[in-house]
Amino acid sequence: MPPRLTCYGGVGEIGGNKFLLEDKGVKVVLDFGTGFADGADYFDGNISPRTVNGAGDLFEFGLLPEIPGLYSERALQNTRLRYGEPEVDAIVLSHYHSDHTGRIAYTDPKIPVYCGETTSLIHEAYSDSKSSPLDGHEIRKFRTGERFRVGPMEFVPVHVDHSIPGAYGFVVRTSEGTLAYTGDFRFHGRAGKMTLDFIEAASKERPDVLLTEGTRVGQGDGKSGMSERAVLEEARRLVGGAKALVFSSFRGNDVDRVNTFFDACQSTGRRLVVSMKIAVILEKLAADRKLKVPRVGKDVDVYVKRKRTGGIEDSDYFKWEREFLSRGVTAADVRKGQKDYFLHLESWDFPELIDIKPDSGGTYIHSATEAYNEEGEKEEGVIKNWVRHVGFRYAQLHASGHAPEEEVFSLVDRVGAARVVPIHTEHPDAFAPKASRRERRVAVPAKGRPIVIGA
Ligand SMILES: [Zn+2]
Repeated sequence: MPPRLTCYGGVGEIGGNKFLLEDKGVKVVLDFGTGFADGADYFDGNISPRTVNGAGDLFEFGLLPEIPGLYSERALQNTRLRYGEPEVDAIVLSHYHSDHTGRIAYTDPKIPVYCGETTSLIHEAYSDSKSSPLDGHEIRKFRTGERFRVGPMEFVPVHVDHSIPGAYGFVVRTSEGTLAYTGDFRFHGRAGKMTLDFIEAASKERPDVLLTEGTRVGQGDGKSGMSERAVLEEARRLVGGAKALVFSSFRGNDVDRVNTFFDACQSTGRRLVVSMKIAVILEKLAADRKLKVPRVGKDVDVYVKRKRTGGIEDSDYFKWEREFLSRGVTAADVRKGQKDYFLHLESWDFPELIDIKPDSGGTYIHSATEAYNEEGEKEEGVIKNWVRHVGFRYAQLHASGHAPEEEVFSLVDRVGAARVVPIHTEHPDAFAPKASRRERRVAVPAKGRPIVIGA
């Protein structure tokens, strides 16, 4: 049987990437993530799949593919799939976002996970502070410039620019043809050049199949959207002009954004205060020789939430939290030095504002994607109510983790693969406008239907 690729997720949806590569009986799972809308017809904020039923509640609605020899004994306990020794040889991970990693938690820990060195550090940070879907698996690390083999398949990882450090695309040489997989990418982050390295490596191989993300394809946002550089300039202006406290919610594992706000603080004389969760990630990533991250305690402070009425006692905190207590910043500290701080505050921590009691006239920076559906608008409405309640101004400031449509198409054209498989997009059809040069080459995937590589 010729080598083949089967898409089990990321088909007509953003996120949920789950691909199976098979060559001469060897099986590799390429990303195994949670879909953003997974089971939204059956599960919502009130109804969730029961973890006690392993993969059972997800199989019920076809939210996980029933691939034999992939899942853990625990995940299969109450399902019609029988547990046996692993038939999947490896899981290869592009980057540490839940829509690429989330479902690894259900797989057999006997299957090794290949990931970038930076990804393994992020995994350790999550594992130390709570849990990680990679827990229990043997981690085999790689860096750009290295390659590894799984049976007849040779994987060449090449870094790409994305909204989390340590993101990779891959060139996979199979026994009969070559596949290139972009992972998630953009060109407008702090390391946009890395995506050009991927294009160069992939185009040299003249791949038979290019598996490419297309998050922003067909969304009609054209070239709009900011670069990380533009976010920095606007952040400098906003923070520089603020007369009181500045606070912001942003994704802490987006180290580009942490650096952007850190730089904005440096040039405006403010002190960045991050949550303990971000502090753990920054401390881990300090060990990464290729990354520049602010040092916890030296460059940035850590916010300490009160866990009970009265003072702060070591015994109220988890072990991993305790090391931050002595050098932490409390609500009272922030209140005292409102004009000196830039506080990172996740929306679920907004009640901290009740303790901080900031003077009105400050600025809130919403550093995330703008709402695009009803649920998001409702959440954004609640955030705006908090901001209004404390008398702050609301500013939207964000650079997407994904390339806009025309840059995705430019990557597709430059890689020049014989066939293009659009994934991680709600508009795979938009890749192949009728009568265009690309039309003949685009193969819109169907869930569970194999695509032959080579031949
Ligand atoms: Zn991603």
